[in-house]
Amino acid sequence: MEKKCLFCRIVSKEEPSYSVMEDAKHLAFLDVFPLIEGQTIVVPKEHHGGYAFDMPEEELKDLMSFTQKVAKRLDSQLGAERCMQVLQGYAIDHVHTKLFPVKTLKAKVVDEKMYRSLVMTLRESWYSGVIISMSGRDRESDEKLKKLSEKIEGR
Ligand SMILES: [Zn+2]
Repeated sequence: MEKKCLFCRIVSKEEPSYSVMEDAKHLAFLDVFPLIEGQTIVVPKEHHGGYAFDMPEEELKDLMSFTQKVAKRLDSQLGAERCMQVLQGYAIDHVHTKLFPVKTLKAKVVDEKMYRSLVMTLRESWYSGVIISMSGRDRESDEKLKKLSEKIEGR
């Protein structure tokens, strides 16, 4: 028998977790390596591979619906202004959403040099899945955007 993944073991209580919400098909629990307080992982109890957009449509909708409930609870219980969310599944091949309860959306002044250094470090990172929610500072050229738009639309 194939070894269960970490999230399947958490769902079956073979591994401990700090749950924050549960229903018949989903479990939400605190990330034990949080970047910010209350960072929460939401998983379907049934094992699915790590790519959310390969899930059956109804199950993905159910996961998003449950994630919405978890986010609203994090907002109210932690005084978060809102939750940011990403769909993940690279590091652990079991689809999951990660919620980041953000207490303030006021932008901090970021030193230009530090910002560029951070972006370059991330771009050159060994992990291509690194994402940040800030937009880049450099406007993309209209020519490149036009070509990309045509490619994606299949023109
Ligand atoms: Zn699993």
